[in-house]
Amino acid sequence: MRIGNVDLAPGQTARGTLTLAETEIPIRVARGTEDGPCLWVNAAIHGDELEGTAGLWRVFDTIAATSLRGALVGVLITNVSAYQALRRTSPIDDLDINRIFPGDPDRSFTWQLACEYKRTVESSATHYVDLHGGGDTHEVIFYTIYRDGGGEASRASKEMALAAGSPIVWSSRDQWLDNGLFALLTSAGIPSLIVEAGGEGRIREENVTAHASSVLNVMKHLGMIDGSLTPTEVDAPVHSANFVFSHRSGIWMSGHRAGARLRHGDLVGSVRDAYGHTLEEIRCQSGDAILLALRTAPMRALRTGPTSASLASSSIDLGGTE
Ligand SMILES: [Zn+2]
Repeated sequence: MRIGNVDLAPGQTARGTLTLAETEIPIRVARGTEDGPCLWVNAAIHGDELEGTAGLWRVFDTIAATSLRGALVGVLITNVSAYQALRRTSPIDDLDINRIFPGDPDRSFTWQLACEYKRTVESSATHYVDLHGGGDTHEVIFYTIYRDGGGEASRASKEMALAAGSPIVWSSRDQWLDNGLFALLTSAGIPSLIVEAGGEGRIREENVTAHASSVLNVMKHLGMIDGSLTPTEVDAPVHSANFVFSHRSGIWMSGHRAGARLRHGDLVGSVRDAYGHTLEEIRCQSGDAILLALRTAPMRALRTGPTSASLASSSIDLGGTE
């Protein structure tokens, strides 16, 4: 078995690199002694979302290759140039890689990386998990997303999501996620999952645990490692989220944490000027809602042009869910 520069015999684990788009990407790989699934898990495809990286360290420190069935490939920092700049996107071209899969070999760096990464994953993965968080500027609660596209891979993705153990499972048909890798791989027949937890520009233990336990639970579910799964109460099966944007530059003030339950019209936060005057109030536009992600950085960067709106919060409408 060869992944990147790593050659593995049965029962071995190794550290190495994957060279894609002229970038050295750090990986850890474990190969079991028995055949089984090949689970790919990547962290930091957004360069400032690093709880998943720490979660992967823990997963590899927990499992023993000798009792593993199949193989685990952990891509520790997928978007290296973004990570080096501690940004969501690469400073080379500032494109969000998880919105432009399957990529394009004839366009700029992030397009090339997307193209080469998708091909690499597809060449060996039977299952795929993508670990995310809120990065430097947002806080995100623990939830999972799978592609609800019909077909066997979607059903298998849902089973992985339920096994992962998050209290919120988002079955997504959202068009804005059409070019996320998890969506395209599911369409190609590879069951796939996004795990979200963390942010605020810090690594909290509870979020590392959420990522590590999600991966270990998916491995138990797939029969790769032994262990029983604790049934999770999914208290919010959801299909889409409402994004609420601020349109003014200033100082962002919010009294909430992600995970707060809000009603229609409740104040999410406000944008103030340097004197403390309120420039804009952001209010919940859903019925009964849960704050899935919340901006935590205190000041919104002043930009010009069509990118001036920045995400203030996203909420899940709990009213119309099933
Ligand atoms: Zn992300």
